[in-house]
Amino acid sequence: MSYNFSVLYISCYTFSYDAYGKEIVKSHERRLMSMFHLSKEAGDVQRSVDISPLLRVSSGPQSLTPSATLLMNERVAQKSLAGETILDLGFGEASFPLHPFLKAALREAASRTRYAPVLGLPALRQAIAQYLVKTRGITASSDHIVVGPGSKALLYALLQVLEGDLLLPVPSWVSYAPQARLAGKRIIAVPTDPHDHHRLIPHMLSEALARAQRDGATPRLLLVNSPNNPTGGMLDRGDMEALAAWAREAQVTLISDEIYAELAHGWCEHVSPARFYPEGCIVTGGLSKAFSAGGWRLGYVAIPQSEEGSQLLAALRAFASEVWSAVATPIQEAALVAFTPGTEVTGYVQHAARLHEYVTTRLYRTLKKLGVPCPRPAGAFYLYPDFSPWRSKLLAQGIKTSQELASYLLETWGMATLPASVFGEPPEALRLRLSTSRLYETNKESPEEQEEFLWQLLEQAGVAPSSGQEHWDTSLLPAVNEAEARFAAWVDSLGASRSLSDD
Ligand code: PMP
Repeated sequence: MSYNFSVLYISCYTFSYDAYGKEIVKSHERRLMSMFHLSKEAGDVQRSVDISPLLRVSSGPQSLTPSATLLMNERVAQKSLAGETILDLGFGEASFPLHPFLKAALREAASRTRYAPVLGLPALRQAIAQYLVKTRGITASSDHIVVGPGSKALLYALLQVLEGDLLLPVPSWVSYAPQARLAGKRIIAVPTDPHDHHRLIPHMLSEALARAQRDGATPRLLLVNSPNNPTGGMLDRGDMEALAAWAREAQVTLISDEIYAELAHGWCEHVSPARFYPEGCIVTGGLSKAFSAGGWRLGYVAIPQSEEGSQLLAALRAFASEVWSAVATPIQEAALVAFTPGTEVTGYVQHAARLHEYVTTRLYRTLKKLGVPCPRPAGAFYLYPDFSPWRSKLLAQGIKTSQELASYLLETWGMATLPASVFGEPPEALRLRLSTSRLYETNKESPEEQEEFLWQLLEQAGVAPSSGQEHWDTSLLPAVNEAEARFAAWVDSLGASRSLSDD
């Protein structure tokens, strides 16, 4: 009884927390008395608590669940703590050591404790604009660059301030749909063809657009991501040109998430759609993947240089000023080094891309030999195999969905993966995302030894022939060997598959 009373009192005070003074305190007391009276009349003190909930979550965030990637990461950590050897193919975190130039720059800037300007340090915005012009061949100018705490936060800010519903390819990165929902947008799924590397093609977009308009939605935005998470695929120049032409014709704004642009493996050139649609394409990117600095939380967005672009910039600036103020000043100072091409850091990024190519290609070849359909990875560190040829065999083991398949692989084969369902696919699509970015871990004694080993690998990648597998000593990466062995043993245990066309 007394517990309920104190809850009730606090809630009454909370209603008027912005006003102080004797009169107000009296009114608190009066309110408290009258509410208490109310509850007495009702004969139920608890009801008065219901009238004034203190911690009730509003309906938007309530429908969200924690990101699937982070949940899987926690499960892996728990199992590893319990002594199990888990192969972590779940978490997509670039894990090469930080380049010493960036480390030195951060150390140097540590005493810069003042807030930076909301849009970012002018020198960094300038460096990013030049970097984009040079490396992507797009038109970008420093006054239309916004620096934010990771491209994730910037993508959310864009979805908040831009008008219209969102066309979203299936599959797509886990956070786009929840972010769009939080921003009050309707999501229009755009199917892609698994038999055609999940390419995004204009006629699928036109169909989705027409369907959405019939349903009363107003799609004005399309998110594209190449190299792609989760598929590892890329849209080539022709695809991008077609996509840009379609978007211009349909008056749809493109948001091109280019966080993996630097990690194109080389056989398919990264082409930004902003080259063909500069007035309607927004580009995002950051430090997390190519520079292995996800924890630094620095991303950028490049906005079209037009009157409308300036309005968008003003809206983003207002949003940022109310939400994050500015990115940590020392991180921005250090990021200058990353976005200044021609330094040693550029070589480091290229070597990292080469290594990702080597590891994803190895796993891809193993899966293909086992008869598992899988798009050939062209960038980043992901593979997206399809186990539906074994649907009936898996069903016999009680596995009907990708979620059940991912759980089974974790529990029985010690492999963490992510199910296709978290990328927007129907539950019964038996695809999984495999991330190879954690397969560089070895059982070196100390973190220093592991770091030294990774530097040696990066150095070796520098002299490896492009697309060559033979150059590499396969005993170097025991986790890759182990992943190949576990997949081979599991798929063998399933026996012969039915062909995909029977599925
Ligand atoms: N886009 C994609 C496709 C991603 O995979 C990620 C990170 N996993 C992000 C954006 C966000 O990157 P960050 O916020 O670290 O810049």
